[in-house]
Amino acid sequence: MALLQIAEPGQSSAPHEHRIAIGIDLGTTHSLVATMRSGQAKVLPDEQGRVLLPSIVYYGAPLSYGEEAKPFITQDPKNTIVSVKRFMGRSQADIKFQHPYELVGEANEMPAFQTHAGAKTPVEISADILKQLKIRAEKSIEQPINGAVITVPAYFDEAQRQATRDAAQLAGLNVLRLLNEPTAAAVAYGLDQESTLTTDRNYVIYDLGGGTFDVSILRFSKGVFEVLATGGHTALGGDDLDRLIVKWAKQQLNIDTLSDIEYAHFMVAARRAKEQLSDAASVELELPNHQLALDRPTFERIIQVALDHSISVCKRVIRDAKLELTDIHNVVLVGGSTRSYAVQQAVARFFEQTPLCSINPDEVVAIGAAITADQLIGNIKDGSLLLDVTPLSLGLETMGGLVERLISRNTAIPVARRQEFTTYQDGQTAMLIHVVQGERDLVEHCRSLGRFVLHGIPPMTAGQARIEVTFQVDADGLLAVSAKETTSGVEARIDIKPSYGLADQDMQRLLLEGFEYAAQDKELRHLQETKVEAQRELEALEQALKADQHLLEASQLDALENARTALQAQLETQDIKAIEQAVEQLKIYSDAFAAIRMNRHIDHALKGTKLDDWSNSTSE
Ligand code: ADP
Ligand code: MG
Repeated sequence: MALLQIAEPGQSSAPHEHRIAIGIDLGTTHSLVATMRSGQAKVLPDEQGRVLLPSIVYYGAPLSYGEEAKPFITQDPKNTIVSVKRFMGRSQADIKFQHPYELVGEANEMPAFQTHAGAKTPVEISADILKQLKIRAEKSIEQPINGAVITVPAYFDEAQRQATRDAAQLAGLNVLRLLNEPTAAAVAYGLDQESTLTTDRNYVIYDLGGGTFDVSILRFSKGVFEVLATGGHTALGGDDLDRLIVKWAKQQLNIDTLSDIEYAHFMVAARRAKEQLSDAASVELELPNHQLALDRPTFERIIQVALDHSISVCKRVIRDAKLELTDIHNVVLVGGSTRSYAVQQAVARFFEQTPLCSINPDEVVAIGAAITADQLIGNIKDGSLLLDVTPLSLGLETMGGLVERLISRNTAIPVARRQEFTTYQDGQTAMLIHVVQGERDLVEHCRSLGRFVLHGIPPMTAGQARIEVTFQVDADGLLAVSAKETTSGVEARIDIKPSYGLADQDMQRLLLEGFEYAAQDKELRHLQETKVEAQRELEALEQALKADQHLLEASQLDALENARTALQAQLETQDIKAIEQAVEQLKIYSDAFAAIRMNRHIDHALKGTKLDDWSNSTSE
């Protein structure tokens, strides 16, 4: 996990050994592994030269994976698990789609598949698939694997992500990050490298895989990459196209019901026909005891309902991003199902442009994951690489030990944020900028990244100076913080560079604490803010007394001093209510004092002004 640590400004990153990281696309239908080789991301084949590992495990004899497990889908469907990704992080009650498995477990629990090899949870089955890819990578690279990036659909919820993370850990992989699949595709296409563009660019990533549909809108603006909106459907993909073909075939052949075995045969035939249709105009559906012809127009008609569904999701996401169709510069196709001519046509028609598919749509996600993995493990080259998001929030310390967040967690980078701050005291000429990272509201609960002092602020009344603080996280993960006083132009800055040493546990702890203490933090923040406000009040009063104490009568001064002492005493406590009351009390007297001062100054001003001048200047 990337966290930011301090380095001396201008110091280049220390030389380090080359470490091996892999990117894994753990797909519903297929899974792949890729790694960086001589600066290029490459998918890794198995010993037979096959790149796609079908996400299938046969829990019988012999225990088989991938292509070898495929024949058992029809021979022994109950023990041959396919599309396990659909079950990840789901309870029994969530699973409403048709499947041939015997699931055990309570309704609100993660189910287990009853197999010859015993009960297997979706996490264990996914781990078995990941292990195969890990072995493949180790054989191919001939070096131990230091870390892995695993991709997940953008809309995977916490339970699904956690299940994926657990599976990877069970497979013995060091998870550097779970990366959203559309982000990986964007990285693979180098969309983050288009920083030379001067105008904004919006891209749509349309990912129609085996079991899931995912559409995302990414924007590039002045070299900054951000995710504008995502949407999708956990149950829309190539499998559904296959089901629609089976449904159609049943109607054509007047078949009412199919046994599990027959159904599996129909599904295999439907899928084969669908895939062949991407290269041929018409194909034969090879069903047990039946032959049925299927051509492209018929196929397009059969799957229209699924295509319409995917397009309506696109419409919604574009609306969420507050964009028009004409704002979309390119559409990127991802996922095996986008090989279907009918899908490409539907996308082209809706977006009124030819979608991008120059990178193999099966491999593009794994390639992006490999690039990200290489970067996260610390093999950063001179060229800029995209760290897709900031793992924790970045901010700075304000009065009272509070954190003001400038860049929140999960912000796509590179990114720059600017905010104005001001001085706290009259005549203040220096300001301490303390950069911190974490999700908590108090500085002491966050991680300190570094501090620097902005000197040379011209003396002004408190609150008048304008200090612009800029946080900039570059494409290579480098955070630069600068502070500039706008009237004088004095400036100071610090460079903070990424380190990859933070253990997952620390990251987890920082994140969890953020959630856990949210309520408590709010309380503490309120207390700190109240105290800062009170301090400000006291200091303003102090200045006023210095200048105009003589305007007060002895009794007035006494009342004021008493209220001041009372507030000072309350500031030692944690009692927000009591502090607020003491401030209110003090304000009664200090406001009265302010009124006396004001009258006095106006008197003074009027004395030196002729009445004519006064009316002239106001009427101008
Ligand atoms: P996932 O990421 O969900 O595992 P993939 O991206 O591997 O899915 O896509 C798998 C889907 O792509 C399957 O439904 C498969 O039938 C379909 N597919 C693969 N090749 C083709 C092809 N040539 N034409 C149409 N569909 C295809
Ligand atoms: Mg996929």
